[in-house]
Amino acid sequence: RANPPYRGRFAPSPTGDLHAGSLLAAFGSWLLARHAGGEWWLRVEDLDPPREVAGAAQRQLTALREFGFVPDAPVVFQSRRHDLYRNALERLLDSGAAFECHCSRSDLAASGGIHRRCVARRRRPQPAVRLRVADGSIVAFEDAIQGRHVQDVAATVGDFVLRRADGLWAYQLAVVVDDAAQAITDVVRGADLLDSTPRQILLQRALDLPTPGYAHLPLVTDVHGRKLSKSDAAWPLDAADPLPALRRAWAALGQPGDALAGADLPASLLATARTAFQPHLIPPTLSATD
Ligand code: GLU
Repeated sequence: RANPPYRGRFAPSPTGDLHAGSLLAAFGSWLLARHAGGEWWLRVEDLDPPREVAGAAQRQLTALREFGFVPDAPVVFQSRRHDLYRNALERLLDSGAAFECHCSRSDLAASGGIHRRCVARRRRPQPAVRLRVADGSIVAFEDAIQGRHVQDVAATVGDFVLRRADGLWAYQLAVVVDDAAQAITDVVRGADLLDSTPRQILLQRALDLPTPGYAHLPLVTDVHGRKLSKSDAAWPLDAADPLPALRRAWAALGQPGDALAGADLPASLLATARTAFQPHLIPPTLSATD
């Protein structure tokens, strides 16, 4: 069977406005998809109401449009897909791959927050659900930008949460279910999620789902070299003046600036960018950013 055609995605969480880091992930995922002649989809990861900022999802979608990014399918909202996550969780519980857990953060403090066996001193009204990670579960994968990445998931992460004790779905479960349900072939995102990928690969195996290709983009840092968090409002982007931010993101992706010199509108800049783009120039890390 031939490989399925390339389908990439950008999956922002509505925890704030689009910032330099998320623009880089949007642009990078879009460029890699277009370069491969593939599709680019958009998914709003709105499963954590306490961390959500009112109106942020719509503002992100509007900003993306103003930057010229148009998805090839209707936008998907995770908050409307609880049944999918529930089904996956039930399958994992039924097969014994997942288990209910009453351990609290303080129960696990002695083991550095890493769960290897239940040590709960009291039952909770609603237990969390974790994926059982066998001792010695070492996951290795080849990242298209970061190279080979290896993690001993049992030792460094332990049995990880799929549904929290407060009933919210864990990002790891939802992202794996959705990437598979949407037939995403290639995941392109910020390098802050590199360490989540081995967990996602273990989950794909437990659910008998394919593992997509991975490319983790360099992280955008602030002027002090600190990572910009997803919810960092320190770097608002001006969607009313999109070209400078697109040019900055293009440079951060290691691409030669003169390629985009003539562009005067986001659409024409993106049209030029997709033909000029050279994936192998993307650096694994950024030395300094403006
Ligand atoms: N929603 C996640 C975030 O904004 C990204 C998920 C992903 O790309 O896998 O951090």
